[in-house]
Amino acid sequence: MASPDAIPLSKPDITELERQLVDEVLRSGRLALGPMTERFEAMVARRAGCEIGVATSSGTSALQLMLLGLGIGPGDEVITTPLSFIASANPILHVGALPVFVDVCPKTLNADPAAIEAAITPKTRAIMAVEAFGNPAYMDQYAQIAAKHEIILLEDSCEALGSRHAGRPCGSFGRAGAFGFYPNKQITTGEGGMLVTDDSALAEVVKSLRNQGRDSFPTTEGVGEGPRLGAWLQHHRIGFNYRMSEVTAAIGIGQMQRFDEIIERRQRVASLYIERLAGNEHIVLPTVLPDSEPSWFVFVIRLAAGYTAEERDRIIAGLRNHDIGAAPYFPCIHLQPPYRERFGFREGTFPVAESISGRTIALPFFGGMTAREVDLVGQTLDVMLSRENLSRS
Ligand SMILES: *Cc1c(COP(=O)(O)O)cnc(C)c1O
Repeated sequence: MASPDAIPLSKPDITELERQLVDEVLRSGRLALGPMTERFEAMVARRAGCEIGVATSSGTSALQLMLLGLGIGPGDEVITTPLSFIASANPILHVGALPVFVDVCPKTLNADPAAIEAAITPKTRAIMAVEAFGNPAYMDQYAQIAAKHEIILLEDSCEALGSRHAGRPCGSFGRAGAFGFYPNKQITTGEGGMLVTDDSALAEVVKSLRNQGRDSFPTTEGVGEGPRLGAWLQHHRIGFNYRMSEVTAAIGIGQMQRFDEIIERRQRVASLYIERLAGNEHIVLPTVLPDSEPSWFVFVIRLAAGYTAEERDRIIAGLRNHDIGAAPYFPCIHLQPPYRERFGFREGTFPVAESISGRTIALPFFGGMTAREVDLVGQTLDVMLSRENLSRS
C-alpha cells in the first residue's frame, strides 16, 4: 500500500561498510563468540563512558541480566517510570521483583525526582532511570537520592546512546546501563543489546549468565573446542543463551565507526522539525534542558493541553492516510493489560504521565530525512490540526 513517496516512521542507516563487515564474518567461518563481539563491546562502552561492555541478544535481555547480576529479585522493589516502552519495566518482573512506578515531570517527561524519593521503602533496591525518548534529565538528582538512601541507580539507557547530560554520556550515570539496537534506535544491529558498566564483578556475572552460566573466559577462546572443551561444559549458574552473534556485532561495528555522522544527521533532522513546527500553538515541542544533548531516538511532539486521545488518534490516522508514519509513543506501561490485570492499575493513577501519553505523536524520524519531507509532514500536520479544530467549533 505504501507509495514510493511514503515517509516511514523510522529507517535504519546502513551502508556498504556494514555489508563489508558482515561479509568478513561470513567468510571467516567464525559466527559466534569471536573478535567482532569484543570490538563492538569496546566501541559502545567507550561511547557510553564506561570501561566494560557486555553484548547481549537484546536491550531487554541486557536489563534482565543487569538486575539478576546485582541479585535483585523476589521481595525487592525497583522504582521506575510508567511513561516508557514496556521493556523498561518487564525485566523487573522477569527477575521476580516489583516495579514501583512514579509520575513524570511534564516538561522533561522523565521520572519526577521528588516522587522517586517519596516512593522509597525499606524494600527498595534500585532506581531504574529511563531517558524518555532519549532526552536526559535529573541524573544528578537521581544519583543523590540513590546515594542518600543507599540504593542502586541503574539506567535503562536504551533510547539514549550518544546522548549526554551535564557533559556526561548516558549509560554512565548508574552502576550499569543498558542499550538496545532494534532497527528504530540511534544505531541498529537488527536485534541486539549491551550492558555497560565500570563494575568488573557485575560484568563477569553477566557474561556468565548470557552464556549458559559458563565461566567468562575471553570470548575469542570460547567456542567449545580443544583445551577449552572442559570449561565449555562447566555451568556454574543457571544461565541463558543471550549471546550476540558475530554477524550482529559486525553490523554494530560499522554503525559505531559511523557514529558521529549518524548522530549529526539525526540532530539535523531534529533541528529541521523544531524550525518547521515552532510557533504552532497546537503543538508542544520536546524540551531539551540547557545541560542536555540528546542524540535523538525519536521525534515526539505532543498536542496542546485540551486535546483528547481520540483527537490525537484521528490526527495519527490522518497522517497515516497520507503515507506518513506516525505513532502514539508511548501508552503508559501501568495501563497495559497485563499490568492492569496483575496490579489493578486504573486511569488516574499517574495523571501527568497519562495526560501526556494521550497527546503524544511520534513523527517520521531518521537520519536520511530531507527538508522537503520534514516540510511535508509539517503541512499535513497543519491540515489535520485545522480539521480537528473545525470539527470542534
Ligand atoms: C528499545 C527499548 C528497550 C528494549 O530494547 P530491545 O532491544 O528491543 O529489547 C528497553 N527500554 C527502552 C526504554 C527501549 O526504548
